[in-house]
This record gives sequence, structure tokens and C-alpha cells, in this order.
Amino acid sequence: MNARVRFAPSPTGYLHIGGARTAMYCHLYAKATGGSYVLRIEDTDQQRSKKEYEEAMIDDLKWLGLTHQEGPDVGGDFGPYRQSERMDIYNELIDQLVKEGKAYPCFLTQEELEQLTEKATSEKIAPHAYHGKYRDLDANEAAEKIKAGTEYVIRFKNPQKTYTFNDIVRGEVSFGPDMVGDFVIKRSNGMPVYNFCCVVDDWKMQMTHVIRAEEHLPNTLRQLMLYEAFGAKAPEFAHCSLLVGSDRQKLSKRHGATSVRQYRDQHYLPQALNNYLCLLGWSHPEEKDIFSLDEISDIFDLNRFNKAPALYDIEKLNHFNGEHLRALSEDELLAYLPCELACDHDFFKQSKEWQQTCVNFYREKIQLPSEFENFLKDIFSLEAVETEEVKEVSSWETTSQIAEYLKAEIAKIDADFVTGDDFTNWQNHLKKEMKIKGKPLFKGIRFALTSRTEGPDLKVLVPLTPVSIIKERLGKL
Ligand code: GLU
Repeated sequence: MNARVRFAPSPTGYLHIGGARTAMYCHLYAKATGGSYVLRIEDTDQQRSKKEYEEAMIDDLKWLGLTHQEGPDVGGDFGPYRQSERMDIYNELIDQLVKEGKAYPCFLTQEELEQLTEKATSEKIAPHAYHGKYRDLDANEAAEKIKAGTEYVIRFKNPQKTYTFNDIVRGEVSFGPDMVGDFVIKRSNGMPVYNFCCVVDDWKMQMTHVIRAEEHLPNTLRQLMLYEAFGAKAPEFAHCSLLVGSDRQKLSKRHGATSVRQYRDQHYLPQALNNYLCLLGWSHPEEKDIFSLDEISDIFDLNRFNKAPALYDIEKLNHFNGEHLRALSEDELLAYLPCELACDHDFFKQSKEWQQTCVNFYREKIQLPSEFENFLKDIFSLEAVETEEVKEVSSWETTSQIAEYLKAEIAKIDADFVTGDDFTNWQNHLKKEMKIKGKPLFKGIRFALTSRTEGPDLKVLVPLTPVSIIKERLGKL
């Protein structure tokens, strides 16, 4: 079956990581079935929707590699793909529902609505119980009121029966007849509401599957009523598990970065973010945890969703980033290291071979590029590190002897870098000829060459450090 699946964000902010996960599932399922993945922009909330957010979302989706086959920027057979450009379609269908007696104008004022809600609450019945006051108003009378300029909304006539459907993730879901009242489908400002536009578009765009977040489950009831009213077949629904923070509350800004843009700005790898997000609510049939979307695009199916809330854990994401980073080739890794992280240190002024040795050396130790920058300080920094151990090691007599010897040795070097062998020879000389051993040797030599008492393997680090830097460090001793 060639599924048609849409991702339908509202451009009211940057792409949320939950939205990215939904988009990925839509993209994967369309691909797995040889179908189409469609991007639809739901911008009927004119106050909050912004063009720049739409552009940013499209850009972030591209960065994640989730390219759509149809959408506002690429067109397609079922456009327009921006709801604000589909008003004629919605208005025609709202008129049709009114003509058929399935929807009606309602003249309740805000004040009346509040009073009726209060009345219902005090009677311990559903707050929407009295919202249907105008459902049976004579059509001519309604037309008169409209003509006289009375404000109105259009409400859908709730058939008041039980609706049941089979959700791919949650199984059978039933909604009783009193869960909603006669709900608004067109506001007094003339704008149709989300639930209405969504149904019209999913129907007219021939969507076969609606994959979205669990928080939309209650909307499905209203949407099922509308499909029925149009005599249209509802798509299959999959409501994916909620993303929660460590306190088990719905993921929000107070849990940390929640937009794809923030992770992008911090130089996370898109493949790591995809991989991690994919596993929040879905599991690999062979229990694999590190994979690319390409690897699973043939095997992705909707039966492997997990309905329990998924814990969003940044530490785990960092681990995934480290794993994907290690899988990169040297050149990919170099291209990935953003310039601003490395240029302070003359990183890109060094030879290609030096850069490759450097990234290979550090890639085992890091998860994020920001850590890489920290490691580069081992090589380039001239700042003194003031720890208790540094103070102690610098006061040893043996450290002064080591420094004097190394100063003389480094003065003989003409090249920009020493070799691993040079370093081994120095170490052997200090050990055999100068009889400095154990801690005084390894702490002392590290301090003399790097100004620190801790760090990575000196045999690799020293040949990566420019001789000019080593000279400057030794010159301070
Ligand atoms: N515009 C809705 C949102 O951003 C889409 C809901 C849906 O997928 O039906 O949450």
C-alpha cells in the first residue's frame, strides 16, 4: 500500500523535537510503503503564525534529511499546502454542512456562554451542555439575525452517540456521547478552526494515515464526527507516546533545549538527533539502537510503537551523538567541526595530516564538538592551570631539572613539530641518564611540556603541539 502521510505543523515557533519525531515517523512510513510524505502548514491562527517560522521549520526539516514530496515550497497535486490559502474550500464545505442541517449559526455572546458554562458546572453536568441553544433555530430567523449584523459562530451539530476507532498505537479508543457539545467550526471572525480544516485537508489530500502526538487524541473525536458528516472515510490514526522530562511531566522548555534549532546551533549531528528521537516511542525489530534512517526505511512499520510515555534524556542523546560522531570518516568529521570552535586555536592553519591525526585522537573522547574545543586547549593553551597538584609539581627540584633539559633539547629542533620518537628519547634520557623515575618523571614532564598535570597520552599529544607553543611554555619555567 502506498501510504499518504502528512506532517502538519503550525508555524508558531521553531520546530519542536516532538514535531521532528512526528515528521520522521511520517517520512519513514511513507518511504517504507513507497508512498508520499506531505508537508502541510496549518497557519489558521493568524496572530501566532509567522512566515519566518514556516521557513525555519522547512529549513530544520531539511537539515534532518526529512524531505517532503509535496508541500508549500515544492507544490504537488493536492495544493495549496498552506491552510491560509484554502479558505474558499473550507467556506464552501461549511456552507454545505449548514445547508444539510449538520451545522448552524450560533448567536451566544461571550457573556451568555460564560453564564451557561457556570450553570452547567453548578448542576454538575458537562460544561458544554447548554452550548446547543441555537441548534434548532428556524433558518429564516437565523438569516434575519445575520442580516441585522448579530455576531455569530458556526457550530457543528453533534450527533450525540458513541464513537469508537482503532488507534494503531493505543488500540481501541471509545468516546462517549457527552464528551463534547456542539463545537465551533467557524469563529466569529470568519476563520474555520483547526479540527475542521484538518479533516477537510486530510480528506481532500487523500491522506491514508495520520501519525501525530498523543495530545491530539481528544481532537480525533471531533474529527471522526466531521468525516462522518462528509460521508468520507477517516484515515488510520496513530497517536504516538508523549515525550516527558525527568519529572515525568510533558517535555517543556524548563527541561532544557526543546527546539531542533537549539540542537543545530550546538552542532549536534542530525543523524544522532534522528536516531535518538526515533527510539523515543518506537523500537527496532532487532533491538538495534544505533542506526541511520536509511537503514530502517525499509523495515519501519507502525506496529512497533510503544504507548508508554517516552523519557527524553539529554545524556542519552549526547551518547548517541558520540556514537555517530565516531562513525564519521576523517573528512566528514573535519567538515563537521565548525570553524568557530577551532579557529581560535589555529586549528585550521595546520596541515591536513595534522588535523586528521588530531580529530582521530580526540574523537574517541568526545560526544559533542564543544568538548573538542576543550581538548584543543591541551594543544594550544598558554594559560597556566592553577591546581593544587600543579603548584606541588612545579615546586619539585626534579621538575626544574626536567625543564632545563627540555629547554636545551627543544632549542635544537628546527621543525614546527617534534616526533613521537623525539619524545621517547627525552623520556629515556631523563630516566636513564638523569635517574628521574615514576611520578616525578611523568608528572614533571607533562607539566613542563603542557603546563598541566593531567591530560591525554603525551606520546600523541606532544607531536601534535607546535614547537613554538612548547617553547613558550618552557620559557615560563
Ligand atoms: N497543526 C497541528 C499541530 O501542530 C497538527 C495536528 C495534527 O497533526 O493533526 O499540532
